[in-house]
Amino acid sequence: MFLASCRTGRYPNSTMAAGLEDLFGQETPGEPDEAAGEFRRALVVAAHPDDADFGAGGTAALLVKAGWDVRYVIVTDGSKGSDDPSFTPERLVTTREEEQRVAAAYLGVGSVRFLGFTDGELVYSRVLLGAITREIREFQPFAVYTHDPEPVVINNAFVNHSDHRISGLATVDAVYPTARDRLNFPEHLIDGLPTHKVRELYLWGANQPTFDVDIGVVLEDKIAALLLHASQFGEDIADFVRNRWRDEQGRAVERFRRVVLFR
Ligand SMILES: [Zn+2]
Repeated sequence: MFLASCRTGRYPNSTMAAGLEDLFGQETPGEPDEAAGEFRRALVVAAHPDDADFGAGGTAALLVKAGWDVRYVIVTDGSKGSDDPSFTPERLVTTREEEQRVAAAYLGVGSVRFLGFTDGELVYSRVLLGAITREIREFQPFAVYTHDPEPVVINNAFVNHSDHRISGLATVDAVYPTARDRLNFPEHLIDGLPTHKVRELYLWGANQPTFDVDIGVVLEDKIAALLLHASQFGEDIADFVRNRWRDEQGRAVERFRRVVLFR
């Protein structure tokens, strides 16, 4: 497990940021109730280095601009993600971790955690559920963003990687009910971590998205962050992103299935 704190991003300490409605338009994420002990924190849980920037990088940049603290949790080590024979798995892991740290910092994401499960070999387990639950209890996020675990095939067009489905499912389960209930993973409480209720869940890669985030003002930042994953993408990723993240009206959007949880 690795923690890298990066406070040198594009939008450091955005205390001058306006309200969410000024950045997000009509569909605004929920606003934490600070009087109730809720924080402006968003946790993005992604299977591989680069998935967080693909799925929610624009939204993360907007949240940072609005003064939120955003953290990425990367579940696997990315050790299968190259056809380049010069990469050993070990060198690929260190390269992709560094790429993810730099890309996250570029978007203003405050910290990145790497859980270190083996790429392509992720299985649902108590160990995985416990690791994600611990991250939620430690960071105390108001909102969690992750892969939609349900689709095996997305938009009748491509297969949803099994690491994505398993990371998403374990994260949904950690949000509710595992992180909330004190008798789940009681060793966390012994370690001083409190239970935690996440208020909002956002799932990308959904076949039935319900919530569009207009990322037009940060689209070029999302593309630049993806290009920082140099072991994964070349310049052609820019046009791919501009086309793939465009809605029927020509807006650049990240689309999620949104779930608001009970207090
Ligand atoms: Zn992935």
